[in-house]
Amino acid sequence: MEQKDCIFCKIAKGEIPARVIHEDDLVVAFDDINPVAPVHFLVVPREHVATLDDAAEGHALLLGHMLWTAARLAREKGVAEGGYRQVINCREAGGQVVPHLHLHILGGRQMRRMG
Ligand code: AMP
Ligand code: ZN
Repeated sequence: MEQKDCIFCKIAKGEIPARVIHEDDLVVAFDDINPVAPVHFLVVPREHVATLDDAAEGHALLLGHMLWTAARLAREKGVAEGGYRQVINCREAGGQVVPHLHLHILGGRQMRRMG
């Protein structure tokens, strides 16, 4: 159920280039085009789910897979030991700009306190 004109659906299908670091049946991970930390990549589901709020109970395994895959990739990128952050922005007030669910992984610098 990919969405026409959705940039992350297109990246997942290989229609738009990206620096892909991991692919499997459920998710694709690629470097953020506008990184805000030395390590900044995204994990996105292949399925078009617009926001975290649109995830259904049936997506629980997918959501867990996103977190686990991101943690594994963070370890591969060498930031796991020092620490890193995983973030999902949900809708406008949450700072979400791209309307296809995605998990940010930020590492390689000290994160500021949130708030
Ligand atoms: P958000 O504000 O949570 O919706 O974050 C969207 C993220 O997607 C931003 O960090 C963008 O830099 C990133 N982004 C947008 N377009 C692309 C792209 N074509 N390839 C990689 N990252 C992208
Ligand atoms: Zn999409």
